[in-house]
Amino acid sequence: MKKILISACMLGDNVRYDGGHHLIKHPVLQRWQQEGRLVPICPEIAGGMSTPRPPAETQCKFPILVTTKEGDDVTPEFLIGAEKTLEIAQRERVACALMKAKSPSCGNKRIYDGNFSGNLIDGAGIAAAELMRNGIPVFSEKELPELFAFIEDSERMSA
Ligand code: SF4
Repeated sequence: MKKILISACMLGDNVRYDGGHHLIKHPVLQRWQQEGRLVPICPEIAGGMSTPRPPAETQCKFPILVTTKEGDDVTPEFLIGAEKTLEIAQRERVACALMKAKSPSCGNKRIYDGNFSGNLIDGAGIAAAELMRNGIPVFSEKELPELFAFIEDSERMSA
């Protein structure tokens, strides 16, 4: 059975910057969890940050710079979190990842623009980008049908 990496906040862990979570209730995800196929990770906690913590956004991609609204540089924590996320994904041989949309770590297609104004731009969070660079597809909670189809296809191909 294929394993799936998942943002820990979507399993109900209170790891968000504001101390909350983003629990997603879906029968397929609940079944996968019961089957032990979900591998939870919060890249920001893995990178050494605590909960609650100040919100952070990517300011620049080349060279990479992630700061809090107050301007504190949290790039090292984000990079360590991304590395650990990839390590776990590879160790657990996950087929893909389900990660929280718009997060500066987990977002797969859109992230905030760095002005802390709620504007979104094209781009991926630091950990999601690291996974995708290493060939691990990343889906968001807005792409559950695509995720389910991907897993079904992968299992059919490896049957
Ligand atoms: Fe959730 Fe990812 Fe943010 Fe952690 S870094 S709280 S897993 S969205």
